Amino acid sequence: MTATPCPCCGAAMTVKKQKNGRPWLGCSPCKVITLVHGADGVAKFKARTGWKEEEATTATPPAAPAAGAAPKEKKEPEPKPAATGGHAARRAARRAGA
Ligand SMILES: [Zn+2]
Repeated sequence: MTATPCPCCGAAMTVKKQKNGRPWLGCSPCKVITLVHGADGVAKFKARTGWKEEEATTATPPAAPAAGAAPKEKKEPEPKPAATGGHAARRAARRAGA
């Protein structure tokens, strides 16, 4: 089928079909997933590898969340180091009219 190598281990990646009919490639030991989303990309992929979606096995890529199901995990912003003295503090003090 295809000899697209895994970027990590170099082994040929398994090609499967997404629910939308487009291909995705995966390397199960490395958990590398490559999704082909563009129609142009799918055409090129088919031309290069001879992949046929009619013959492909359908499987949902494990790391592809459904549209609109993005995790609502809030990331705490990195606390900014307090400006203690130095140029910035002097400039701020000047701006404040001190
Ligand atoms: Zn790999």
